[in-house]
Amino acid sequence: MKVDLIVKRCAELHTLKGPERARKGEEMKDTAVVKDGALVVDDGIVIDTGPTNEIMNGYEGDKVIDASDKTVIPGFVDPHTHLAFAGSREDELVKKIEGKTYMQILEEGGGILRTVRQTREASKDEIKVEMKRRMDVMLQYGTTTAEAKSGYGLDLETEVKCLEAINEMDKEHPMKLVPTYMGAHSLPPEFDDQSDYIDYCCESAMPVIAKKELAKFCDVFCEKGVFTSGESRRLLIKAAELGFGLKVHADEIENIGCSTMASELGAISCEHLVKTSDEDIKELAKKEVVGILLPGTPFMLMEDEYSPARKMINEGMAVALATDLNPNCWTESMQMIITLACLQMKMLPEEALCASTKNAAMAIDRDDVGSLEKGNCADFLILDIPNIMHLPYHFGINLVEEVYVNGVKVQ
Ligand SMILES: [Zn+2]
Repeated sequence: MKVDLIVKRCAELHTLKGPERARKGEEMKDTAVVKDGALVVDDGIVIDTGPTNEIMNGYEGDKVIDASDKTVIPGFVDPHTHLAFAGSREDELVKKIEGKTYMQILEEGGGILRTVRQTREASKDEIKVEMKRRMDVMLQYGTTTAEAKSGYGLDLETEVKCLEAINEMDKEHPMKLVPTYMGAHSLPPEFDDQSDYIDYCCESAMPVIAKKELAKFCDVFCEKGVFTSGESRRLLIKAAELGFGLKVHADEIENIGCSTMASELGAISCEHLVKTSDEDIKELAKKEVVGILLPGTPFMLMEDEYSPARKMINEGMAVALATDLNPNCWTESMQMIITLACLQMKMLPEEALCASTKNAAMAIDRDDVGSLEKGNCADFLILDIPNIMHLPYHFGINLVEEVYVNGVKVQ
């Protein structure tokens, strides 16, 4: 059979083939690897995978790439980013290094509301220019699909502007984006009551965003001092009525019962999960919810406590990894996140790979990416490493040699 492309003699071809759901617990170690493997692509789609000798007997490629001594994996999926923002806050890192607390930085006019000001002032085109620079780097570092949250506008006008920017960049850039509305990211300066602002999100903002079909998911920062579990529940119930999938920022600083509340409402993912208790982990493991862990965040905050990933996996939870790309944790590199996940949270290289591809795709409801299943998009990476153990081990550099999206080389 004649096909567009064959990638042959991959030292390791990690296909992540398997069930049409996130891998849970023990299953995360199985990346469905083929040694001396080959990948067959036609018309932008994965046609087959298998041992090179078998594949070369059955197919004839227009183009054949020899990937000897290389590892081939699905493109990374980054399921939690705050990609649409203006400006930067590098001076705040210096203040943190000098010993200032987050509260002191907030009092000096820094933090999230500074980014809200800058994002409100920027035009849609200016935001798109900044997003493009970030997306170019993400693609270079192997991310082929990412979730992108709004939430630095807070008012409807700016949230719509940012969500439009995300939807337009999804079409204009080879990297794929999945948009999330996160108006409930912080209390905007023009409100002084959280509950009033949740009313505004439910009654004024969300129906408009739903009607314009600008976002697939709705997310809320459920945290002490931000939005309570009750306020978050109210928002999520309304979001579900309007047809949004549900996500929640939960248990990052304190455990106020958000992760179990959200999973009971049918949330597809709970994100951060640093302070999640042993009992909550057991509850989450019973559900289909994916825990999206963000080790870049404690790293940049210079904190010692990371999500209890080992416990989660041992209890049978499905875990994904993400960058949390935002002005407070600015990295485009899933490779950096994988190194942090392995070193700080004791995830195994195979588990971290599963968490960055298959499980990350499931956490944003994309079954066409994240694995090299027959019929999926041919989004894959050729890594200049002979086995997957090098991925966390050889750190701080870019191990990606080539990036393919829909069977086309984009890097
Ligand atoms: Zn976040």
